[in-house]
Amino acid sequence: MTQARKVHIVGAGMAGLACAVRCIELGLEVSISEGAPQAGGRCRSFDDATMGTVIDNGNHLILGANPAIFTHLRSIGAEGALTPLDPARFPFMDMASGKRWTVRPGMGRLPWWLLVPGRSVPGASLADYAAVLRLLRAPTSARLADYVNTSSAMYARFWEPFALGVMNTEAPAASAHLIGRVLRETLLKGGAASRPYFAEAGLGPALVEPAVAFLKAKGASVAFSRRLRALEMSGDRVSRLAFADQDVEVADDETVVLAVPSWEAGSLIPGLIVPTETRPIVNGHFRIEGDFELPDAAPFVGVIGGTAHWLFRRGPIVSATVSAAVELAEKSADDIAALIWRDIAGAIGRPSAPLPVHRIIKERRATIAQTPAEDARRPPAATRWRNLRLAGDWTQTGLPATIEGAVRSGHLAAEMAANSAGR
Ligand SMILES: Cc1cc2nc3c(=O)[nH]c(=O)nc-3n(C[C@H](O)[C@H](O)[C@H](O)COP(=O)(O)OP(=O)(O)OC[C@H]3O[C@@H](n4cnc5c(N)ncnc54)[C@H](O)[C@@H]3O)c2cc1C
Repeated sequence: MTQARKVHIVGAGMAGLACAVRCIELGLEVSISEGAPQAGGRCRSFDDATMGTVIDNGNHLILGANPAIFTHLRSIGAEGALTPLDPARFPFMDMASGKRWTVRPGMGRLPWWLLVPGRSVPGASLADYAAVLRLLRAPTSARLADYVNTSSAMYARFWEPFALGVMNTEAPAASAHLIGRVLRETLLKGGAASRPYFAEAGLGPALVEPAVAFLKAKGASVAFSRRLRALEMSGDRVSRLAFADQDVEVADDETVVLAVPSWEAGSLIPGLIVPTETRPIVNGHFRIEGDFELPDAAPFVGVIGGTAHWLFRRGPIVSATVSAAVELAEKSADDIAALIWRDIAGAIGRPSAPLPVHRIIKERRATIAQTPAEDARRPPAATRWRNLRLAGDWTQTGLPATIEGAVRSGHLAAEMAANSAGR
């Protein structure tokens, strides 16, 4: 029996985990090393003493049109870990006017529902939908503001929340090309593709812990608190990995997959061009006593004209997300909590004081900035070293920096490792 070829994966976020799982499926030997004490990276859960429960670092919206995520779940035996919202819908509330509406995608493949009052965005005109068609053909150099009227109702009620949520970048400057790609894969593909899914037990129990369990059960080496400090190159390949605790030789037929964030890859690989601008996301988690409902009895709601952009509910916890929160992230946790609670209190009909038990989490480098200029700096999976591959949401996946992009990048790196075995 020939021995399985080995793949050294550095980083156990969604990209590294998906890569490791796919490598096992492809019959490769896997060693995965994670610098933090736990897996998950920017998509993780932890037991929070203040909140008295497991919370996620931040809300993550997953859609039906995320095929790689669902493939990953099937591979790790966690198919049922995400719950679909039935019927598919996107409720919104406007904090300034008090207006509430719900976008209800139809279930067919054609987006006929966009033209149906009561299902679509209130105040949208045919000119707005014509802009959608133009945007679908936007070149990689274009910004959203080049395609849509930023003073229209459609912008305030759809484009801005959509672009902030998907791109984590100020909407006018966000890449029109990437937004067009997401629209094509989600809302314009019909209801099944745009259906939101939620990890009711948390991101860790749904996406991360079953992956780690799968890898261990399949004999992969999984190491935490094991930080890569340097890569040593010999000629056209990586020959040694210098971890904080030990050096590991990389044999000629072995592959290294670097699945760390962009800034880390940029400092580990000499001369690698990576995106340099990032954007923060701020999340505020609040424990609510007694009965309450978010608008339309949904597990989430989009907020217009407030501090929060989205509110998510999991049991007694309401969590607010503020994307591209460049200024907010500079404020104190107390100030942020007061601002966010105003929105939650408005949504569920509670007084603005006192504040319930809460926890503010600032992810200062939540994703890369998804402007045309930064998108152009995203490198492909292949590097100039024949046995070194890159994975991560920030690599050139053709998608925004999301879990789906991270998982696809991990799958691609695994397939390249299987096909080349270091050559
Ligand atoms: C608050 C928040 C909300 C988000 N919302 C959404 C959403 O709604 N939908 C969505 O799809 N995406 C969302 N995202 C983005 C999503 O979380 C990321 O795209 C995805 O988790 C990135 O995975 P990754 O594996 O590429 O990177 P990471 O998760 O950053 O994983 C990289 C791993 O490498 C490790 N590492 C770093 N350096 C080293 C080293 N030197 N040695 C060893 N290990 C190292 C890190 O500890 C980390 O575990 C959100 C992100 C945040 C922060």
